[in-house]
Amino acid sequence: MFEWNQQQVAKLKRLWDEGLSSAEIGKKMGGLSRNAILGKAHRLGLAGRKNPDASRKPRKSRMKTGIERKVIAPKIVPDRPPPPPEGGVSFHDLAGKHCREIVGWDAGAAGLARYCGGTKTDDSSYCAEHYKKNYVPARIR
Ligand SMILES: [Zn+2]
Repeated sequence: MFEWNQQQVAKLKRLWDEGLSSAEIGKKMGGLSRNAILGKAHRLGLAGRKNPDASRKPRKSRMKTGIERKVIAPKIVPDRPPPPPEGGVSFHDLAGKHCREIVGWDAGAAGLARYCGGTKTDDSSYCAEHYKKNYVPARIR
């Protein structure tokens, strides 16, 4: 195993500060491996370099291609109730959320009412559309 003396450590520090790659430092230190240099530098607590081997020859970054990727934001779907079912819902299918507007009648003698079936607004028995239709604001005399 290579024994580091003070002179060599000083040299390593100097070359490291100059920005030489660990492989180059290794060569100048008498044929030490890149790993030996990196290991020693680490133990000495020398400032870490992002990419020591590339520091002397700045390469063109491949990251900048000039093409900007468009980030397509997800479409925000408005929180709207689904449209009422076509033909309305029968009395039997009527659920609490359904608009109570009668839109027609079942066929047959005992034809039961068919209801709008749209989603009720919070404070009425009708969907927004039928609410507007059925509740005419009182006129001020
Ligand atoms: Zn309705």
